[in-house]
Amino acid sequence: MMSVSCRPSRTFSFLFLAGLILSMHTQPTSAQDVQTARQEAPPQRFALVLHGGAGGNPANWTADYRAAKRQSLAAALDAGSDMLGRGAAALDVVEHVVRILEDDPLFNAGRGCVLNERGEHELDASIMDGSNLACGAVAGVRRVKNPITLARRVMTETPHVLLASHGAEEFAELQGLEFAPPEYFRTPEQIRQWEKWKASRAGRAQLERQQESGPRDKAYFGTVGCVAVDARGHIAAATSTGGLTGKRWGRVGDSPIVGAGTYANDASCGVSCTGTGEEFIRHHVAADLSARIRYASQSLDEAAAIIIGQVLPEDCGGLIAIDKSYNITMQFNTAAMARAAADSTGRREIRLERE
Ligand code: ASP
Repeated sequence: MMSVSCRPSRTFSFLFLAGLILSMHTQPTSAQDVQTARQEAPPQRFALVLHGGAGGNPANWTADYRAAKRQSLAAALDAGSDMLGRGAAALDVVEHVVRILEDDPLFNAGRGCVLNERGEHELDASIMDGSNLACGAVAGVRRVKNPITLARRVMTETPHVLLASHGAEEFAELQGLEFAPPEYFRTPEQIRQWEKWKASRAGRAQLERQQESGPRDKAYFGTVGCVAVDARGHIAAATSTGGLTGKRWGRVGDSPIVGAGTYANDASCGVSCTGTGEEFIRHHVAADLSARIRYASQSLDEAAAIIIGQVLPEDCGGLIAIDKSYNITMQFNTAAMARAAADSTGRREIRLERE
């Protein structure tokens, strides 16, 4: 009995030693070898999509504005694609991409956010991990430089899903996150937009009408969002916004509401929305997209088309989404939606309006 049980173990030891010696010889031995080995690592499977808000009137856009916006979307897209191609987790990628867009004053999130009726800013954000349905969100924060990172900390460092206002900021302090003064967030362009809104005697009435029946002036939009699926098939989604210009202070839109503005589930899809938040909350758009795929066996494109074309009021907004089979969709019922997509088959596209 003994000899029978010993033989496989001797064979194993021999194979193990031989493997070890062989692997020592095949390990990179210099910095150049390490570099070569890295370059040769096969790119990982992924799909990535992002948006910079549905809105604006393309007829008013200058060539410079279009070029700047495309450049910003391209930079965020390439940063995210590069991470995913090297095997990064979808959750890390969506946070990183949204941080890039929050730091970019061309978008209504973080720096460059729109101002409320009092000329102040209040920021909302959420993030969701489709592998375990963990999610985190913040609403009405004013001093945190990157609300999306605070949302992620709510997800990972508290038992809660959504923290608001002062409580969220006190938590950000405890987490040692970066803060910024009001001047950082309020760009001259947004102050100009707000003054225009205030000067318009009909401004307030116009906003109320928009919230009832969908916006007429998409200059209000510019929210950012990102969805990714990584090589392990994990899906994550993130959204960040300053909300609507002239919104009542204290108003919270769909962006920090999980199931309305953001959702991710490895079993179905990940989604980030943009548009008139009240409509996206009413129709729980992000969760509805997932449910249509899971329970009604609709395809990603089909489910998004029904929501955008039939469920939501006209001229209301759009969504970006990715399903578990790495399909991407980007749909909207406004005149424009800044958007970009890439995947590991080499797809790379950046678009601003209907094309
Ligand atoms: N959905 C955002 C909100 O209502 C606005 C936007 O997407 O531009 O707060």
